[in-house]
Amino acid sequence: MIKKINHIGIAVASLEKQIPFYRDILHLEDLGQEEVADQKVRVAMFKVGEVKIELLEPTSDDSPIARFLEKKGDGIHHIAYESDGLVEEISFFTDNGIDMLDKTPREGAHETLIAFIHPKSSGRVLTEICQVKE
Ligand code: ZN
Repeated sequence: MIKKINHIGIAVASLEKQIPFYRDILHLEDLGQEEVADQKVRVAMFKVGEVKIELLEPTSDDSPIARFLEKKGDGIHHIAYESDGLVEEISFFTDNGIDMLDKTPREGAHETLIAFIHPKSSGRVLTEICQVKE
């Protein structure tokens, strides 16, 4: 079951350039940075209420984020909903004709498992479903 919005993913060409806006101007809580090798991104997380802001900087030219930046530039990349049963969500979506970019969960940032829905099945809003690992 989907419980809440976990985070909003924002593609940035440079973490170094964008972090001060979130940290020093908006004064969001800084949760630190990590690299997600699987997605070829470096992630900086900030927290506001229950929602996180996930800044994504590509670590390689063939990262999906690098391709996004090339086409669209910096901006909102995806919305992530938190579920308590990711595998069940994926099979429910698939049974209902939703096209999944990830048919099985994979590793996300901050101890989560994630799966993306294909934007053509979600009104062109890239949608991630994530589950916090126990
Ligand atoms: Zn995300």
